[in-house]
Amino acid sequence: MLVTIDGPAGSGKSTVAKRLARHLKIPYIDTGAMYRSVALFAKRSSISLEDVDALVNLATPLEFQFVSEENEFRIRVIKTNAEVEEFSSEIRTPEIALAASKIAQWGPLRAVLVRKQQEVGRQSGGVLEGRDAGTVIFPEAQFKFFLTANAEVRAQRRHEEFQRKMGSQAPSFQQVLDEVNLRDRQDRERKASPLSPAPNAAIIDTSGLAEDEVFAILLQQIQGSDLDLKLQS
Ligand code: C5P
Repeated sequence: MLVTIDGPAGSGKSTVAKRLARHLKIPYIDTGAMYRSVALFAKRSSISLEDVDALVNLATPLEFQFVSEENEFRIRVIKTNAEVEEFSSEIRTPEIALAASKIAQWGPLRAVLVRKQQEVGRQSGGVLEGRDAGTVIFPEAQFKFFLTANAEVRAQRRHEEFQRKMGSQAPSFQQVLDEVNLRDRQDRERKASPLSPAPNAAIIDTSGLAEDEVFAILLQQIQGSDLDLKLQS
């Protein structure tokens, strides 16, 4: 079973994607974490975010796995020398988010990561969260959603999340809003797979909705159409 959930930063994708994956007992595949991990490695190795060839060489040998434990989700990255690293909060900073968005504009790097995302999804199915999951990675997915919300609401949600995790070290609301706006622009205006809904995705505006309501809407659409299929057969 493949479910795709796309949309801009702060639209509520991650929360509902994790919850749906757990409920449906299928893997949660966080494609953004792959861009974030590559961005972190590039920063560590002082690779320029503009150097497409070096970024492709960096990403090509990496293997990605998604680890779900109780309430914790991590990405596991296996390098060619079999060295393994796992990331959670270290790739969730505004700096890495912007770097990920920067490198995500490069078509050749996207091609490398899309191939890996397709391999993982084909092996196990899953709830894939990203920007191009329903348009490029799995256009044939059974259930496709595109979540939106206005920029202030999205920045507010991210700001609250940073405050929960970082306390007084959290960036200000204005810094988060600026990051969200900049990332939106980069993600929507890039030439390679710009953020936009798949023609047959269900578009859901989560601005005025609580997390439980978003979850209920998606689950109802999945189970409702499951029921339709059962009734037809
Ligand atoms: O979803 P997340 O905020 O972790 O993604 C970080 C960045 O990675 C996004 O701003 C976007 O530029 C990029 N991304 C992408 N395609 C995906 C997932 C993420 O371009 N499928």
